[in-house]
Amino acid sequence: MARINEHYLNLKGSYLFAEIARRVARFQAEHPEARLIRLGIGDVTRPLAPAVVEAFARAVAEMGRPETFRGYGPERGYPFLIQAIIEGDYRSRGIKVEEDEVFISDGAKCDTGNFQELFGRENVVAITDPVYPVYVDTNVMAGRGGRPREDGCYEGLVYLPCTEENGFVPPLPPQPVDLIYLCLPNNPTGTTLTKEQLKRWVDYARAHRAVILFDAAYEAYIREEGIPHSIYEIEGAREVAVEFRSFSKTAGFTGTRCAYTVVPKEVVAFDAAGRAHSLNDLWLRRQTTKFNGVSYPVQVAAAAVYTPEGRRQVKETIDYYMANAAIIREGLSRLGLRVYGGVNAPYIWVKTPAGMGSWDFFELLLRGAHVVSTPGVGFGPSGEGYLRLTAFGRREETEEAMERIARLELG
Ligand code: PLP
Repeated sequence: MARINEHYLNLKGSYLFAEIARRVARFQAEHPEARLIRLGIGDVTRPLAPAVVEAFARAVAEMGRPETFRGYGPERGYPFLIQAIIEGDYRSRGIKVEEDEVFISDGAKCDTGNFQELFGRENVVAITDPVYPVYVDTNVMAGRGGRPREDGCYEGLVYLPCTEENGFVPPLPPQPVDLIYLCLPNNPTGTTLTKEQLKRWVDYARAHRAVILFDAAYEAYIREEGIPHSIYEIEGAREVAVEFRSFSKTAGFTGTRCAYTVVPKEVVAFDAAGRAHSLNDLWLRRQTTKFNGVSYPVQVAAAAVYTPEGRRQVKETIDYYMANAAIIREGLSRLGLRVYGGVNAPYIWVKTPAGMGSWDFFELLLRGAHVVSTPGVGFGPSGEGYLRLTAFGRREETEEAMERIARLELG
């Protein structure tokens, strides 16, 4: 008799975006004439940069000629891309990363989701709350979450509330933890940490022999000086941190798929006898067993992001989204709403008016302004009373959404 992994049964029923889709579909069925503006799901809308498209097409053509055809690529990724990443994202900031510490993949979702496989079930996992749901659900699937409680938290996870009261700065855990997920700039709150604030986490991990899983998928959106772009800007981080990056939001690769993970050789975890094991070795073993690489054309396309034209074009797109972020921030602030994020991140985290619940505010925007948002509570209990809007929409629609919301009675 085949038996299931019963940890899957602990997963909470409806995935956030499925529930949003259900509510939106119901509304649209009742009001077929309503023209919805979608500022909910964090997918991009601008096309790939011309330099990327040109490189992509060239590499596809190479695959069609016998003399330039390629089969399986190198297991960590093509050196041309790894070198471009090291030069463009690290060495240029004075950070040391070696070629065999970079692993090219098809997404930061899979990497942040899969990396926990390297750790035993007994590890105590800390997550910030609200949180990108992948960290939670993959640990629940692996048996580290236990059952969901009435309050929406899993009994086995340690939640670090990030709210207005603490400026969305995650507090150090109240009990010892072994694995810590940090996402900076943050999805969903759009907030960042300073070097000093991040250093407290690196110091904590060093003192507790914990590992930080640092998701920097939105690094390209950092505008302000002094905000760390990589956790390796912090002294000692190479001993305790793994960093996840993605081309999805940096260069519009959500449908093209390319990302990478940096696993410094110094980062270790321990066996029952207390012996240290390199996570770099284990991740290589895991990836070479379960993953067969990203296609050559996609890696060529990703490398084009680091060329001078690629950089300029990608920056233009990010500037476009960040101008949307400013429109949303200003539009909502003018209405008296309290607004966070949107300065170093494409997400705007809005406090709901007058104690309204997240889903109620979602419904108000949907029914009153025909604007689709994401209720904050969907990202964790501390997201209750907030709503997430994204800057990834089209300019005219973003402006129109603000005009429509301005006409609402917000109470
Ligand atoms: N990490 C965070 C925090 C995200 O918000 C997302 C996507 O929304 C991802 C990772 C997924 O990135 P990718 O498209 O590379 O899988």
